[in-house]
Order: sequence, then structure tokens, then C-alpha cells
Amino acid sequence: TPSPTLTATSFEVRPSSHPRTVTERGEILAALSFGTAFTDHMARATWTADGGWSDRRVEAYGPLQLDPAAAVLHYAQEVFEGLKAYAHPDGSVWSFRPEANAARFARSAERLALPVLPEADFLEAIRTLVHTDVEWVPTTPGSSLYLRPFMFASEAFLGVRSARVVDFLVIASPVGPYFAKGVKPVSIWVTEDYSRAHPGGTGDAKCGGNYAASLLPQQRAAERGFDQILFTDSTGENLEELGGMNVFVVSKDGTASTPRLTGSILEGVTRSSILTLLDERGLQTQERDIPLAEVVEGIRSGDVVEMFACGTAAVVTPIGRLAGRDFDLTLGDGEAGPTTLDVLNTLTDIQYGRREDSHGWLTRL
Ligand code: PMP
Repeated sequence: TPSPTLTATSFEVRPSSHPRTVTERGEILAALSFGTAFTDHMARATWTADGGWSDRRVEAYGPLQLDPAAAVLHYAQEVFEGLKAYAHPDGSVWSFRPEANAARFARSAERLALPVLPEADFLEAIRTLVHTDVEWVPTTPGSSLYLRPFMFASEAFLGVRSARVVDFLVIASPVGPYFAKGVKPVSIWVTEDYSRAHPGGTGDAKCGGNYAASLLPQQRAAERGFDQILFTDSTGENLEELGGMNVFVVSKDGTASTPRLTGSILEGVTRSSILTLLDERGLQTQERDIPLAEVVEGIRSGDVVEMFACGTAAVVTPIGRLAGRDFDLTLGDGEAGPTTLDVLNTLTDIQYGRREDSHGWLTRL
């Protein structure tokens, strides 16, 4: 039974006149990659400064009509979220801590001077979209329906001020397992040249501009042959996060550390869930400043035994190699360590309904 807040508002469903056929859908679901295929519908609502939120609906997925002067195209007033819907063996569909995404969406919106979407609307939009496109929720092992809520300034106005017309949408993309051939450690380049965020900036908001700023450093790292980039803080001294994932460092003495939330790091839902799981396993968890020099020294001396990145898309990604301007190191034997695998398996077991959800993290859609 849905919780009472889910019935606070409702999204009107206007079915698509041109949904894909069963065969077309089957072909797409049989060959999943990340973020390339989308379902037949999208959820929408509109906000105006005068009238608030209105016109909540689920309609055919398709191109948007946007005035060329729409403020988002000029000043990047935009925020987004990312979460997944998981099919359980009994056919029910669940999402993982969606209220945490709704709360983060509200915090991001506030930082970008966008209107706050009530949590009930966030959840109801997702719920109605997933119900409408439930046949798009993949059931092959490790696959899910990735949900992308976003909000942007659609007012046609070139003055620099917060927009008085805003659109909210949710689109959905069936995605396969992030590691199609099993868990594979990634190589990381630590940049001391670029920072992603800085004190007083927008690092802890999920806004498009942060990702635009991370693309060139990520491209430079790829040119050097690395999978991902790890950003340091604006001093270049402490670890922050990857372009789209938080990071953990596991020490020989059983301590797991992750950078504290300084205001320039995104507070990951996966990060916070992992802190809880590690605590329960009796590991000592620390949210603190983690100097790069300490990590480099720790890997060399054998004190740092594992590192992993975490986020909704890839869940938990082991780090096999860490390199930067004057170091190039292998973590342990370069393979996924026991703590990394334990956290990965526990989280995915909960998400896919293979393990009891003792924390109440799942919401039935
Ligand atoms: N950091 C950044 C910059 C991200 O984009 C993401 C993905 N949302 C994360 C961390 C991980 O957050 P979550 O666990 O909520 O997906």
C-alpha cells in the first residue's frame, strides 16, 4: 500500500499515441547500455512564480519545445537527480531511498534559486511514470530502470535573475549491469590541476554546471589512459570525489574513511548507506579530511589496503590503480578487496530483494 504522502497530488496519465511495439521493446531490453534508450513516457510539471506547481502529467516521451532565450541555455539554472527502480523476483518494483533523492533535489534547487518541488510530487512523478512504463523495467540480473528527474529555467528572458517559469521532468532509461563482465577495478588519475568545486560554490548541489566543469579534466585523464578522475579540494591537498561518485579508503586496521561533507562534495545516497553498513559490520568509519599525501604514503606502506568509488549508477567500483603527478600505485593486488565486495554484494542484495531490508531503505513503487 502506498504511503499517505504519495496520494497528496496526482499526475494525469496521457498515454503515448506511438509506444514502441513489444518486439521493439524486447530488442532494446535485450541489448542494454547506459543512458541511450528511453521509455515511452515522461513525467512533467510546470512552475510559475505566480501560480506555483501545476499541470502534473505523464505524457509521450519526446523532444521539448524550448524558446532559444530559455534561461537554462544561457545561465545553466538546472538541477537533476539519479535513482533506480529495481524489479524483484515476485514482479514488484522498488526504489532505493527515493526520499533521500527528493530531499537532495530540494537542496540543489534551493542553491540554484529554483523552486522546491514537494517530496510528494517527486515521489508521485516517479511512481506514475514507472507504473505507466512498467514493462520497461528490465528483469535480467543486475539491470534496472534508471530514473532521471530534472528541473530547469524555461522562461524566455535574458536578464540575470532566477527564472519565473520552470519545468520539471522525469525520464527513464532501462540500464544493464554496470560491469557486464563482472566487477572490474578502475584506474584513477588524481588531478591537482583542476578542481571541481570550491568553498561557497555549488559542489554539494547536483547541478549540470558541475558536470560541465568536470568534462575536460575527465577527458585529460582518459587521454593518459585512466578510467576516471579523482578531484582534490581547492587547496589540492585533500581528496574530494570523482566526477560522479564518492570515494572510500579502507585501512589495514579496519578503518574506512570517506571525505567529510565540506559543502563542495555531493552527499551520495550510496555513500551514506555504505557508512551505515560498515558501522554495522564493526568497521570504524570516519568522515574527515583525507590528505592525498596520507593516501599515497598509506598505499606505499601497505596501510591502505582498499579504495572504492560509489554511486547509484555503478553502486560500488573497486579502485585498482591510483596515479597522479608523481606517483603511480597499485591498490593491494589490483583486484577488488573483501570489504569492497562485501559492501557491493550487501547493497545490491538489498536493492534486488535478495536480503532483508532491515533499514527500511526500499519504497515500493
Ligand atoms: N558525487 C557526484 C558528483 C555524483 O554525481 C554522484 C551521483 N549522483 C555521487 C557522488 C553519488 O551519489 P549517489 O550515491 O546518490 O548516486
